[in-house]
Amino acid sequence: MKKIAILGGGVSGLSCAHYLAKLGKSLGRSDRIILIEASNSVGGWLKSQQFDDGVIHELGPKSIRASGLPAFNTLLLAEEIKLTPDIIKVKSGDPAAKKRLICVNNQLYTLPNSLKSLIFNCPPFTKPLISSMYKDFKSPRLTLDPNNGEDISVHDFMVSRFGEEVAKYLFDPMCRGIAAGDSKKLSLKSMFPPIYRAERSKGSVIKGMLSPNKETPSTINSEISSSSLLNQVKSEKWSIWSLKNGLEQLPATIYSNLIKHSTSANVEVHLGHQVDHIMFKDDGSAVLHVSNCNSIKPISVDHIFSALPANNLAKCISAKGYPIIHNNLKSIKSVTVAVVNLEYSGTIIPRDMGFGFLTPSYSNSPILGIVFDSCCFRDHDGDKDITRLTVMMGGEWFDDQFGDPVNVDHQLMLKIAQDSVRNHLNINVNPVRTIVNIHKECIPQYYVGHSSKVETIRSEIEKHQLNLELIGNSFGGLGVNDSIYDARQKAYRFYNNK
Ligand SMILES: Cc1cc2nc3c(=O)[nH]c(=O)nc-3n(C[C@H](O)[C@H](O)[C@H](O)COP(=O)(O)OP(=O)(O)OC[C@H]3O[C@@H](n4cnc5c(N)ncnc54)[C@H](O)[C@@H]3O)c2cc1C
Repeated sequence: MKKIAILGGGVSGLSCAHYLAKLGKSLGRSDRIILIEASNSVGGWLKSQQFDDGVIHELGPKSIRASGLPAFNTLLLAEEIKLTPDIIKVKSGDPAAKKRLICVNNQLYTLPNSLKSLIFNCPPFTKPLISSMYKDFKSPRLTLDPNNGEDISVHDFMVSRFGEEVAKYLFDPMCRGIAAGDSKKLSLKSMFPPIYRAERSKGSVIKGMLSPNKETPSTINSEISSSSLLNQVKSEKWSIWSLKNGLEQLPATIYSNLIKHSTSANVEVHLGHQVDHIMFKDDGSAVLHVSNCNSIKPISVDHIFSALPANNLAKCISAKGYPIIHNNLKSIKSVTVAVVNLEYSGTIIPRDMGFGFLTPSYSNSPILGIVFDSCCFRDHDGDKDITRLTVMMGGEWFDDQFGDPVNVDHQLMLKIAQDSVRNHLNINVNPVRTIVNIHKECIPQYYVGHSSKVETIRSEIEKHQLNLELIGNSFGGLGVNDSIYDARQKAYRFYNNK
């Protein structure tokens, strides 16, 4: 019997516990799984605020993508924990999937979303996008610096392969939307691995993307083909999805499932317990120093899965004993995002207005973008005729624009959000409900060279033979799907190696 600790009860830690418990049980093992979470609730950034009138506002993630292997894996998990009846979907033909906007010179433009929009001029692009694709097709393979792990910034890559406008109007805002980050600093290799791999393998993104996909691991392939939910997802061409009670329902259900089956699977969850320090022993096992409000206790474990943000894990690992691990973890920075949820009475923007809009970084806008929540998931409006919007601010630019996140004035953030709604969407009425949250250090930044940094940390862990596995969105991908899929892969690898 092994004692396995999982640090952090966000969606990564919870899904890791789920997969370990499931696999352990199927292998007839009686390992003890101890999940330790600093706050008093699980789910990390997945937080949905539900009001008595049935209205739901998402304070963190708003939707989960429905295509690609990691996305299929999340849907398999949702099906397994019996969430299928509660899923609300957006199909790829729906306006909320098709219409993604950018704001250039104070004007909103729909991003190209069809073959026609690639062939014909589609403002703000001054040339049809097909000409940018031709540039990629014709240009030689890029020479990348091996000293930087053959990495390049998203911006530089896009300029070289597709031209200035694709970098400026597509990938700059996209980096702000996904990571609240700066495309000039973010790594192509870690932010957009399929694009990176396509160019590296075929010398052209388009050629690489058109060549057949490599086979996916067989266990998940057979699960995918026998899943009735995934058959529906594919036949109806889903784009994104959420849950009736908001996305927090996903971690909450993984958690209640774990608790329900805890006697057979030996899962313990310690909420309100913070891991302060990890002391590794010579055989790779460890003693965790865990504190809650009134005590500190040591917990001896054989193996650790850390699902903590890199910076938080750095604090737990001695800088003296493991300087390379400590310093590299510490250097993975996360940015702060202000999320302002606004609710208006009545239908004040058309229901088919799309997903929302993003602002490019060169526009110096005080906001990153606005999501049209009611256009995406009407069910979260309850039975009311309302319009929900979310304004995102800050990210890489937070401190420069708004100062120290700890001291920022929430009323000021609310005012900026309302002013932006007024300027961009011409909404002059006051909201009937507002929520302001400053999510401190909530999105890790995969700067150029990120993957080499992670490799360095992993090889140091191996060199010192520490029984430590890194999961969570500082390492395995930024979105919910990546986090869950990475946790699954690490859990499978753990038991396959046993
Ligand atoms: C504003 C916002 C919007 C987003 N939108 C989307 C979206 O629309 N779609 C999407 O797919 N993804 C989105 N994401 C990303 C998504 O939220 C993450 O992929 C996901 O939450 C990562 O989960 P995690 O478990 O890896 O990390 P976290 O959610 O950060 O969980 C880490 C956990 O560790 C705990 N912890 C920290 N330190 C300690 C310690 N010392 N001891 C014990 N516990 C500790 C924390 O309390 C936390 O619960 C968004 C993120 C943000 C912030």
